[in-house]
Amino acid sequence: MKKRVTVLGATGSIGRNTLDVLRGLRDEWDVVGLAAHTSVQSLAAAASEFKVEAAAITCPDQAKSLKARFSPDCEVFGGENAMLDLVNEVPCDCVVVATVGTGGLTATIKAAEMGRRIALANKEALVMAGSVLIPLAERSGSMIIPIDSEHSAIFQALQAGRVQDVHRVYLTASGGPFRTWTIEEMDEATLEDALRHPTWDMGPKTTIDSATMMNKALEIVEARWLFGLASEQIQVVIHPESIIHSLVEFKDGSMIAQLGAPDMRTPIQYALTYPARKRCPSEQLDLTSVSRLHLHPPDMERFPALRLGHEVARRGGTCGAVMNAANEVAVQLFQKGEIHYRDIARVTEAALERHESNPSPTLKDILAADRWAREEITRCAAC
Ligand code: MG
Repeated sequence: MKKRVTVLGATGSIGRNTLDVLRGLRDEWDVVGLAAHTSVQSLAAAASEFKVEAAAITCPDQAKSLKARFSPDCEVFGGENAMLDLVNEVPCDCVVVATVGTGGLTATIKAAEMGRRIALANKEALVMAGSVLIPLAERSGSMIIPIDSEHSAIFQALQAGRVQDVHRVYLTASGGPFRTWTIEEMDEATLEDALRHPTWDMGPKTTIDSATMMNKALEIVEARWLFGLASEQIQVVIHPESIIHSLVEFKDGSMIAQLGAPDMRTPIQYALTYPARKRCPSEQLDLTSVSRLHLHPPDMERFPALRLGHEVARRGGTCGAVMNAANEVAVQLFQKGEIHYRDIARVTEAALERHESNPSPTLKDILAADRWAREEITRCAAC
């Protein structure tokens, strides 16, 4: 019997890589559902290639005349709740969450409630709603397997030991385009500078997050929820080669790392095939071509976002939602040229300082904190 998988965010970079992996796993997996926000054309093409049972488009402007774009055998959901409806109504074994931003949050929570395996690439789900998602998954028996390369590496390294025996984990970071820049140079940093990422090929939001290292701050919070670690157990280490994807140090001093070429198809496939390993279309690493690997501690002065990541991991509650939303709006303002590169972390920190965190929030509280932070950043950027 083949297993059934639904892919949310099927037309983005992770989604396309997921479909590429699934092309190689056709003997085991049937792709039954696909969802995207706006890209109807690419979604329709993928839906017909994989002969899916249902497809979903969440952007309301695209919902009109949607059915005509898909085969008559394919059920089509449109509108704001389309992803949620897809997860709710099309039975499957695994939901791949490859959405960006907060769009897939309610659908992810639904998948956890229904006890599905969740192959999770979306950081926001955990950063914002870890306090809701993790207990829910524990109750339903839903297994959350990370796709984020660092967290996949930690998840893989943890197969060698027990979480209660972890001394700490090291999240590796490329350091982004400003790794070697001084604060004075960063003061002059432009959007073009921030968009030049040395190793990973990602969308603009993630690339700018990598330049501020807010990406790593979000990943600290993500690791805190995924593995149930304390903030002090999570350490960021700069590793410009992006060969070691992260490592776990156990209490006995043993360190277990996962290495590989920087290719997202490896963690995507592992989340699907776990605990099995299969041949993967990803690039293979030639270990003999790696002459040196550099590892050094990050500079918290130059990258204050990292401090925020640790603070949010410690405070928990609604702080994750505030950091995530404040940063998202700050990045948009930076892209529009309305604030400076160094203001991104500054205004995010200011929002966190003014926020009164709710220590055990509901999803409603989390969404309210998200809205509050967006308004707060827009307001203080204007003055
Ligand atoms: Mg990552």
